[in-house]
Amino acid sequence: MMKPTMKVGLIAFIGLCVLFYQYHLSNVVRYDQLASFNGADSAAFISLEDDNGSRKITEDTIKNAVRSVQYIKGLSPDITELIIQELLSQLLIKSTHDNTLTPSSTKSSSLVDLKQVNNTLEPLYIITPTYRRSEQIPELTRMSHTLMLVDNIHWLVIEDSKIPTKQVTQLLERTGLKFEHLIAPMPDKYKLKKGAKPRGVSNRNRGLSWIRANATDGVFYFADDDNTYDIDLFKEIRRTKKVSLFPVGLCTSYGLSSPIIKNGKFIGFYDGWIAGRKFPVDMAGFAVSVKFLHQRPNAIMPYRAGFEEDGFLRSLTPFEPTEAEFFGDNCTRVLAWHTQTKKNNPSLPLNMKIHNNTNLVQLKQQIV
Ligand code: UDP
Ligand code: MN
Repeated sequence: MMKPTMKVGLIAFIGLCVLFYQYHLSNVVRYDQLASFNGADSAAFISLEDDNGSRKITEDTIKNAVRSVQYIKGLSPDITELIIQELLSQLLIKSTHDNTLTPSSTKSSSLVDLKQVNNTLEPLYIITPTYRRSEQIPELTRMSHTLMLVDNIHWLVIEDSKIPTKQVTQLLERTGLKFEHLIAPMPDKYKLKKGAKPRGVSNRNRGLSWIRANATDGVFYFADDDNTYDIDLFKEIRRTKKVSLFPVGLCTSYGLSSPIIKNGKFIGFYDGWIAGRKFPVDMAGFAVSVKFLHQRPNAIMPYRAGFEEDGFLRSLTPFEPTEAEFFGDNCTRVLAWHTQTKKNNPSLPLNMKIHNNTNLVQLKQQIV
């Protein structure tokens, strides 16, 4: 006779084998590598063998494996979540004193624990301005893969466009992430203006109004579609009580924009472009708590190229730079990068006389 605990373990192990077999078949990403990159501190784990050098199955490994199947095969978000919950509840139970998960003895207790794990995380709202161009889908693809590694994300993707782009909606649906696909065209008076334009401002203000109308707690962050984000960033900014500030790489000629900390104290800003700004920071260099935004009903981003961040942070008044929380291990780590993608011209039209009835017709619909 097999012990009930062993039985449950065996069933769960077979389930995992099927999943891992599927994802090896897909031959796309080593999700176990991603999970270990994610760091053991976020992910509770059980050991399948002994403690020394054994392979760890983490909560994140399970989620990533199931989501990879979802991403490749297009499972519905509901079914994906059910499989994740079932695997977690069969396999894992959160220990009371640390992050370590130990094998579950009874199904009901593990379900209760699972709820506790999910309930402790407040949502992280990611406000992403985007617009139709050759690089849009590749940028959003890259970004979605980052966000898929983070728990309890609510992605607000806001297009500078009069109509939502179908390809963007399809991409968002495939991610399995919780998302809103909104539109907020830049007003013509700024669009037609010569020189630097206030890029992404209408989109971000639309994101703010969505949060005011729909969110009560958690944190929001303005994340442009072309930047690069370390997944540790999201763990950090979740803790924002009011406003957090942190370093951003690849900004201006200094290659860096950051608060300056000396002997544990904030003493000023390092940024290649000060220009009289009270908050000389990059858009990717701060996060704000939703509750704090609700306490600042007039906060808004101005249509002023180069002064969007400063204008928004000033509009949070009363709020001084010294009151900020300094993240990124007290501003010692770069966790966001102001990467910029080379601009590509729209592709030439397809010659339908030559290429009609070929795969190129479908491919052309996927590029700009
Ligand atoms: N953006 C937009 N409409 C535009 C230009 C840009 O919505 O006409 C978005 C873009 O997708 C990005 C953000 O605004 O998320 C900042 O734009 P960009 O990356 O071009 O600015 P940079 O980083 O060079 O300052
Ligand atoms: Mn950019």
